[in-house]
Parts: sequence; structure tokens; C-alpha cells
Amino acid sequence: MYAPGDVRVEQRPDPEIIEPTDTIIRLSATCVCGSDLWLWRGIDFDDQPTPMGHEYVGVVEEVGDEVHTIKPGQFVIGSFFASDNTCPICRNGYQSRCAHVEYVGAGGAQAEYLRVPLADGTLVATSEMPSDDLVPDLLAASDVLGTGWFGAVAADVQPGNIVAVVGDGAVGLLAILAAKQLGAERIVAMSRHEPRQQLARQFGATDIVTERGDEGVARIKDLTDGYGAHSVIEAVGTQESMMQAIRATRPGGHVGYVGVCHEVQLPGQELFYAEVHLLGGPAPVRRFLPELIRLIESREISPGKVFDLTLPLDETAEGYRAMDERRAIKALLRP
Ligand SMILES: [Zn+2]
Ligand SMILES: [Zn+2]
Repeated sequence: MYAPGDVRVEQRPDPEIIEPTDTIIRLSATCVCGSDLWLWRGIDFDDQPTPMGHEYVGVVEEVGDEVHTIKPGQFVIGSFFASDNTCPICRNGYQSRCAHVEYVGAGGAQAEYLRVPLADGTLVATSEMPSDDLVPDLLAASDVLGTGWFGAVAADVQPGNIVAVVGDGAVGLLAILAAKQLGAERIVAMSRHEPRQQLARQFGATDIVTERGDEGVARIKDLTDGYGAHSVIEAVGTQESMMQAIRATRPGGHVGYVGVCHEVQLPGQELFYAEVHLLGGPAPVRRFLPELIRLIESREISPGKVFDLTLPLDETAEGYRAMDERRAIKALLRP
């Protein structure tokens, strides 16, 4: 990305092993993330050409001397944050805040090859070479599925719960899928876009609320005998969506917030009397990968349905445009 709205595909040097714990993978598929759009729209862009992309699946080409469990030829999935998976923070399930965390997207995953640091801790291999139709599902696990799943876990979704999901991007839609898998009885999708409502229903939404802000909160209260939802997943990251999530949660309930926060400020007194649990942040996707891969390989879930546009890598800029204009939910790129 040279500037907001200016994404170019150009030839760059192949990534190389730098640390002995690194690996190089040849990407089978990658994609554009909702969080990439913040930069495309001029928010967070720091005025230097930046390699883009942080979601990836592919085949291991080369491993460093200290990589022991990951082997060349394996098909692997990893998160946007590399983690050692051995420090106390990782062992507690928060690999996204690993003591040795590194951003995998630094070299840009919207590419043919990618260097992944801390390979043994970061990557999970599939049980066999996946058939081509599973590749989008596995790619979804790299971020949006793992992030939606964390949102549902952070919101403490339990069997029988009433769950509300704020945000109908790929993460919000897959949070619905996660809530369904975790046994939620009713799942309310907050969405005003017809194609996304349809996908929300396919993933398990039982109710659709099109109102936003205070009106959206009132609708959630109507659906829950006035109490609010047990669990609310926030998958946008704005002041409005965060307050909508907190206000839609019943006292004692849980908010899982996974939309990257931009200028969100929480009013202390309202928070004090809301009496809800808050947990969120960059999702520790690595924690969930083994289970997510199992569910995908056994075809129990199809998270790849969020990719409603597939483009060759050369046409990456069109993927950004289509998502920015909401013509596409999520663009998959084929190197
Ligand atoms: Zn992402
Ligand atoms: Zn760690």
C-alpha cells in the first residue's frame, strides 16, 4: 500500500530465513482483512509504503535449523501474530500477547511467499494435504474464524444462552457460527444488509435486528424479556458499536469485543452500573486452531462461505475496493 486507496502488486525479493526458528511458506491462498480497510481509508496509515496482508495458508518450503515440529511439505495455518506457545502467557491461552510476539504480516501475506517467525509455536499443520475446496475454510481459520470464535468464547457463550452479535463483517458472521457451535439457543444478528443477513441465518442466526445504537439496544431488550442478552460479541470497533454491545448485555452478562478499537472511550460510571464482564483484544487464534482445523477437515463447519469474491493476486486492489464499497464481504486472493 503506497497510500490510502493505492494498493499495487509488484515484484519484491523472496523472503528468507532470518532467525533459526523461522519458516518460509508458499501461500495457497490469502485475503484482504476488514482491518486492512482502516489503512485503505486513511486511518492508521503511517505514510510509508507498507507490505499488506496477515492471513495465510500454504505449504512449508523451508525451515530454519531450530524448527523441529514443522516440516517442509506440510500444509499449515497460522495466526497474524507469531507466538512461541511456551511462555506463561501462551500456556494460559493468550498467544496473541506472547512474551515473544511478532506480527506475521510485517512482510506482507498478500504475496506468493511469507516468512513466519517462531514456526513451531505459530503454525498448525493439517492432518493431510487438503482438497482445494477446503482451502477457503482453512484460510478463514487464520483470522476471521479464530477471531469470531474468540469473541464467542470471551462473551462466555454457553449452551442455552441468548447471544447478540454487533457487526456483520466476516468476523461478526463467523462469531455467529462459533456461537452456534458453542450451543447458543438464540443468536441475534445485528445487520441491515440483506446478503449478510442470509449468510448470518445460514451460520445459525435465529433473529435479525436492523436497528442500530439505542434503537438496536431496545430491540435486543424486547427479544429478551427486557433483560438484555447473556453474551454480546462486538465485531466493529467503534464507539457506537462498543456502547451498543455493553448496553445490550444483561447485568452479569459478558461482552467479547474483537473489533479493533478506534477512538473508543468507555464512560466509567455507566460501566460501573452496567455490571457486565468485558474481555477482548487481538484474538489468540493459535489457541483455537487445532479444534477449528478438526471441525473444517470433518466438514462440520464451512467458514469459507464468507469469501464471496475470489481474485488472482494481481487484482488485489480490486479486492480492497469491493470490500470498501461493501460489494464483497471478503476477498480471497489466489497467488
Ligand atoms: Zn485479519
Ligand atoms: Zn508465548
